[in-house]
Amino acid sequence: MTTMLELEKVSVHYGRIEAVRDINLKVEEGEIVSLIGSNGAGKTTTMRAISGLRAVHGRVLFNGDDISRMKAHDRVTAGISQSPEGRGVFPGMTVRENLNIGAYARRDRVAITEDFERVLDLFPRLQERLKQAAGTMSGGEQQMLAMGRSLMSRPKLLLLDEPSMGLAPMLIQQIFSIITEIRQQGTTVLLVEQNAKQALKRSDRAYVLETGSITKTGTGAELLADDSIKDAYLGVA
Ligand code: ATP
Repeated sequence: MTTMLELEKVSVHYGRIEAVRDINLKVEEGEIVSLIGSNGAGKTTTMRAISGLRAVHGRVLFNGDDISRMKAHDRVTAGISQSPEGRGVFPGMTVRENLNIGAYARRDRVAITEDFERVLDLFPRLQERLKQAAGTMSGGEQQMLAMGRSLMSRPKLLLLDEPSMGLAPMLIQQIFSIITEIRQQGTTVLLVEQNAKQALKRSDRAYVLETGSITKTGTGAELLADDSIKDAYLGVA
C-alpha cells in the first residue's frame, strides 16, 4: 500500500485555544477513511489543516512530500480538494458556473470536459439544473454541487466535511453510495461525519477524535462493533 496522506504530530491553534493536539493519522491510496467525533472535537479543524486553511505545528505529508507550509491553492493543484461543511456553493452563480470554478487551476480542456460529464453522471440532478442559480436549489442538491465542484479539480484526495448534514434519509443513502463510487473511480476519500454509523459502514478505516485528540482507530467494521463507540456515537439503533 502507498501512503497518500500522513499527519505527524499535528496541532492546530485558534489564538490560545489548541483545537487539535498531536494528531497522527494516515490515509493510504484508494482508501475511504473517516473521522468521527462529537461537535467541537476538532474534525473540521483537521480537514482545514490538510487543505491548508489553517497553519499547523507538526508535519502534513502528501505522497511523501512535506506540504505543511504549502498554500491552500497549491495543495489543490497538488491533488487535494476539500468540499466544505455547510456546502459553500456560490448561490448567485449557476450550477454550470459553480462546477467550472472547481476546475479553475486546470488548463487541460479535454480532461476538464471529461470530468464535467463524469460529475453529471454521478449527480444526474445537476444535469437537469445546469442553468439554475445554485442558491435556489435544495440543501441536498447544493451538497451534491459542492461535491461535484470538488471533483472538478480531479483530486487524488477528496476531503468531505459532513456530506450528509441536513439531508433526508433517502438522500443520505444516495450520498454514501456516491462516495463509494467516487472511490471506485480512483479517488481516495477522507470523510468527516456526524452520521458515524453510515460512515463506518462505508469506510476501510476510521479515527475517533475527542477534544482535539485521536482516542481510537481501527477498521470501519471494528469500530462499528466496539461497545464504547456504539454507546457514544451510534445511538441505540
Ligand atoms: P463540528 O462538528 O461542530 O463542526 P468539529 O469536530 O468539526 O465540530 P471544529 O469545528 O474543528 O470541531 O472545532 C474544534 C474546536 O475549535 C472547538 O472547540 C471550536 O469551538 C474551536 N474553533 C473552531 N473554529 C474556531 C475559530 N475560528 N476560532 C476559535 N475557535 C474555533
